[in-house]
Amino acid sequence: MSDSVKYLLDETRIPKHWYNLMADLPKPPPPVLHPGTLKPVGPDDLAPLFPMALIAQEVASEREIEIPEPVREVYRQWRVTPLYRARRLEKALQTPARIYYKYEGVSPAGSHKPNTAVAQAFYNREAGVKRLTTETGAGQWGSSLAFAGALFGIDVQIFMVRVSYNQKPYRRALMETYGARCVASPSTETNFGRSVLAKSPESNGSLGIAISEAVEVAASSDDTKYALGSVLNHVLLHQTVIGLEAMAQLEMADDYPDVIVGCTGGGSNFAGIVFPFLGSQLRGGRGVRIVAVEPAACPSLTRGRYAYDFGDTGHMTPLAKMHTLGSTFMPPGFHAGGLRYHGMAPLVSHIKELGLIDARAYQQTECFEAGVLFARHEGIVPAPEANHAVKGAIDEALRCREEGTSRAILFNLCGHGHFDMQAYMDYFAGKLTDQDYDQAELAMALAGLPSVAEAM
Ligand SMILES: *Cc1c(COP(=O)(O)O)cnc(C)c1O
Repeated sequence: MSDSVKYLLDETRIPKHWYNLMADLPKPPPPVLHPGTLKPVGPDDLAPLFPMALIAQEVASEREIEIPEPVREVYRQWRVTPLYRARRLEKALQTPARIYYKYEGVSPAGSHKPNTAVAQAFYNREAGVKRLTTETGAGQWGSSLAFAGALFGIDVQIFMVRVSYNQKPYRRALMETYGARCVASPSTETNFGRSVLAKSPESNGSLGIAISEAVEVAASSDDTKYALGSVLNHVLLHQTVIGLEAMAQLEMADDYPDVIVGCTGGGSNFAGIVFPFLGSQLRGGRGVRIVAVEPAACPSLTRGRYAYDFGDTGHMTPLAKMHTLGSTFMPPGFHAGGLRYHGMAPLVSHIKELGLIDARAYQQTECFEAGVLFARHEGIVPAPEANHAVKGAIDEALRCREEGTSRAILFNLCGHGHFDMQAYMDYFAGKLTDQDYDQAELAMALAGLPSVAEAM
């Protein structure tokens, strides 16, 4: 085993293809349904929202899908991202484990999200689209799409969850710096936003509401389409550059992961690092234990129901079978804004049902504690979302210590926390509390799930 702390590959080693897990699954995931007819959706149902190239990727079954050269050209600015061996953290934990992390915070927006934002902006420009609408919680996705839109000459309109719009002015300034227009959601610009405001003028907003607003605008104008930063198959596909690169880098390290850990909001960065390794296992390669880590305050994988549900609060999207807390569920206001979504990617939900992955939920203060320990030894300040993966990896390393076994642990450090220092200040001031979700609220949201009689 080499004793480096970082494994770098030059830009010629950026993958030429994304990896499509669909090709290797023992059983395909349940179809996405039209909410009116309850029949599987076809390309025409999705055409008002997405360009055909992305719709095709949504249902593609081939194992490798070529990354267009103009997308690789943009990736070259920050990819191949570094893979680090966390030797100082290992020492601090006195663990025999070998801890590796892939660092996606080196992208211009500071997270993994540009991997798909750039691809989506490219395909939309090829289709002649002039404007993209989207939602953003903490602002990571909004700033990534704003960046990509600027590169491909597409106007970007972003509905930002109101509580974040007020609390996180720097992410908003970043979106505006890239030239995007950012409005607080619920807004007065859509029928759905106005209907929410009529009922609750002080609404803090939610991702589900912001998605409804962005979908409404895209569906009602010809030159405008919608972009989603997680959950959908094509988004997870684009993120697989992370895992494909990590495989090549671990080869340089002459190592292979026994455990892979990722944090899950909608599931895209987790899928990005995990799917290439899982695919190899499904094709008869080495087995790997996979752990998804989510916040205890919004625990879709560990406490949600596996059922058909809407992707948004206004019920404008198709129905997808996924682990869900119910589309009207309002999570408490914890700091990892990117993990506050009621559902989970259908593909990630499906592999959970197949028993191919484990899931775990953590409270936010224990995640910040892990993130601070990580920063003090490795120097990088993780995003609050990424702290969940850090915590998961540290727990795995401590288990190795207890058992006296050396395992290789790989986790995805999906973004830096430079725009989230208020959260760290609150943590140091002792103001962060561990909030549990409201049991009655969850029961109500689950009771409101659409009823779908399943023939399958
Ligand atoms: C958006 C975001 C997440 C959550 O989204 P996934 O699709 O689950 O990856 C996690 N971490 C960071 C840094 C994010 O920006």
